[in-house]
Amino acid sequence: MPHSYLINERTFLAIKPDGVQRHLIGEIIRRFEKKGFKLVGMKLMQASEDLLKEHYIALRDCPFYSHLVEYMRSGPIVAMVWQGLDVVKTAYAMIGETNPADSRPGTIQGDFCIEVSKNVIHGSDSIESARREISLWFHTDKLTCWADSTEHWIYE
Ligand code: GDP
Repeated sequence: MPHSYLINERTFLAIKPDGVQRHLIGEIIRRFEKKGFKLVGMKLMQASEDLLKEHYIALRDCPFYSHLVEYMRSGPIVAMVWQGLDVVKTAYAMIGETNPADSRPGTIQGDFCIEVSKNVIHGSDSIESARREISLWFHTDKLTCWADSTEHWIYE
């Protein structure tokens, strides 16, 4: 079994408003759950403009920034925290490339979307981003720590 701090790595994933409207919540959660990752936090919420501006602060000078914030405000989002060995890197790979056109079949963006401006899911791109995003979207002391009985069948 890898050291517990390694399997406790966390990432932030969010099903965007188009993913919710297109009834992809179950399909998306299913992929991470079946992979073997552990869900430790989840909420369906309408994000505020302030939260979204802060979430995408690194993109504030991009021409699509305000469009992006509007898109993310256009309906409810499913905000989630997932845990597991290398979850940041692996979940990001399972999502696909930022532009769905560059994403392979088998990835979420390769399978479910076409345009970069309607790309159904967000995932943290690094451990540092994951830390920042989790603390932005969740009270970290409210995340649920639980013992997954399948852990011995997933990790050596
Ligand atoms: P990510 O790490 O894959 O989410 O990619 P980025 O941080 O570069 O972009 C954040 C989000 O901005 C993407 O997931 C898209 O929703 C959106 N985005 C990125 N590039 C474009 C673009 O050229 N046009 C529009 N409208 N949205 C974009």
